[in-house]
Amino acid sequence: MILTVASGKGGTGKTTLAVNMALLLAETMPVALLDCDVEEPNAHLFLHPAIDACEPVTLPTPVVDEERCCGCGKCAAVCAFNAILVLGGRALTFPELCHGCGGCALLCPEGAVTEEPRGIGVIEAGWAEKVRFLHGRVDIGAPLAAPVAAAVRKRAQERQGLIIVDAPPGTSCPVVAAVKDSDYCLLVTEPTPFGLHDLQLAVGMARELQVPCGVVVNRVGLGDQQVAAYCASEGIPILLEIPFDRRYAECYARGGQLVREFPELRDKLRKLWLRIRMEVEGDGPGAAGH
Ligand code: SF4
Ligand code: SF4
Repeated sequence: MILTVASGKGGTGKTTLAVNMALLLAETMPVALLDCDVEEPNAHLFLHPAIDACEPVTLPTPVVDEERCCGCGKCAAVCAFNAILVLGGRALTFPELCHGCGGCALLCPEGAVTEEPRGIGVIEAGWAEKVRFLHGRVDIGAPLAAPVAAAVRKRAQERQGLIIVDAPPGTSCPVVAAVKDSDYCLLVTEPTPFGLHDLQLAVGMARELQVPCGVVVNRVGLGDQQVAAYCASEGIPILLEIPFDRRYAECYARGGQLVREFPELRDKLRKLWLRIRMEVEGDGPGAAGH
């Protein structure tokens, strides 16, 4: 099963939930945690994995043979990212803008465009106790988080058992890359007007991707009831409410593991996992949240 943990905004406790579910469930089943927040990966700060593999993520990037180029401009016309321009009869490439779609090489009538791999990030893998851990990092200055997130996410296909994907915050392209084709999406929010607004965006994304979703409300007691009212009106199940507790925040701040320090959370997360399984197997009310 691929379970993606996402949130419309940062700072809701999404990574904390993903990490602690992985640690707890790995005690009884094979679990992998994929940190797809490739611009700011932070799950490793809580898991402290021993990294045993590292490989580059590359994109095919065009190289123009000036001898063959006739300056027709078809490559520039097809490029949606202005990564190739034709000036004075010569094609000029701007690799840092290229998204590797291959359109220019495909359409060049002279066969003047070939492609070379260009590094845009890395994937690192390792073990954190019984959790198989993977995360990606996009290179600084390479505005291509989505392909790196997709490369990490693709690794889910190689693993058995439960795959927990820690998505980036928001609803942009890297988030879509992380959530797409998941069996279930847990949306973590907080009971505030900002939390509600960003939850609504995240629900819209999950529905667009046809991934069933449920909600975890964190820091209950700090805000209001609008998130609960919204979920009820939309038929989206609230699978877990975590009360605001200063001790949890302190544990997070020093990179601690909640399931090791707070036994009451172990039981709550086990019940959350059972609820998710019921939702995925079609026994829960989340079908309405699909
Ligand atoms: S591969 Fe695609 S994005 Fe890159 S330069 Fe060619 S058309 Fe543009
Ligand atoms: S499509 Fe090919 S031949 Fe035409 S300008 Fe681009 S590189 Fe040159």
